[in-house]
Amino acid sequence: MAELITRTVPIGISACVYRCPVRYNGKSFDALATLGRERADFSFTPVCPECMAGLGVPRMPIHLTGPGQEVLAGEAKVRDRRGRDVTEALVEGSRASLAALQRAGVRAMIVKEASPSCGVYKARVGKKRTEQIEGSGVFGAMLLETGWFLIPDSALTNPLLWWEWRRRLHAWLWLADREITRAKDLYDAWHVVKFLLQETSRPFADGMGRELAALPKNPPAASLEDARARILDALRTPSTRPRIRQALWKTYINAKKHGKLDGVDLHDLEVNSPEVSANLMTIVKELTVLERVSFENDLLFGTSPVLRRDARRVRAREAEKEE
Ligand code: SF4
Repeated sequence: MAELITRTVPIGISACVYRCPVRYNGKSFDALATLGRERADFSFTPVCPECMAGLGVPRMPIHLTGPGQEVLAGEAKVRDRRGRDVTEALVEGSRASLAALQRAGVRAMIVKEASPSCGVYKARVGKKRTEQIEGSGVFGAMLLETGWFLIPDSALTNPLLWWEWRRRLHAWLWLADREITRAKDLYDAWHVVKFLLQETSRPFADGMGRELAALPKNPPAASLEDARARILDALRTPSTRPRIRQALWKTYINAKKHGKLDGVDLHDLEVNSPEVSANLMTIVKELTVLERVSFENDLLFGTSPVLRRDARRVRAREAEKEE
């Protein structure tokens, strides 16, 4: 059956995509518009490293002379449009933002992509918009070192992308928090999250399965933590729409074949086979209904092995089962 997270998840967010008008030009975005009621599952801590640097709003846009990692190593600079060196200020602002997130208990963060400060997987280096390179912004480089779960703001632009990042976030948090002292603890946890990793990298999943099976009963704690860290790292890799649909279909067909969905109220839901063209909203609806059905019927839905449910709803369901 699905594992549950029932607490409110603390999550950091670049302030400008949380509707705070802190961009250099005093504007903002609303990255959370697609979340609806799901917002209540999270406790948000917005931060803006450029504001914490004391650069003010409005301000001149800044640019990097090299990726954020090089800035932190003292090998590249941060300059504003007039060429003023603001490296030290931005590094300090980034440190202050990180400290605020740590105080809030954050281990996951929604970052504004392409920003020379918050960008993680791509950041603009140089003065021109076209000079985007692989690498991170200054704050983004610090975030990468934390090992946290980092979500680009583009993940919230459509419901399927968000569904994909959210299920990985829940699995990541669940595994990161789990007490693991013996090989069996890790092996049991692996059986919960492996479906997600089989979807994105079969060779990694098969290799990890073999490695865990070969562990002695009580391996050194460092070996267990090393394996856990590699699984957590793999959980950060997003899947693709065709793969998500394939996994959804496989889970649905297996559940039907083994009679697990017999007598279950599916609200007339029929999951489309991956060959049938279906729009995003249809796929998200199929996934969401199957997640709910799995939760209500104590089934493991491999496509979303860890679900977030409100503690009150979980207690109500348990009371119902006892009656
Ligand atoms: S991208 Fe980061 S530094 Fe830039 S305005 Fe947004 S929160 Fe501030």
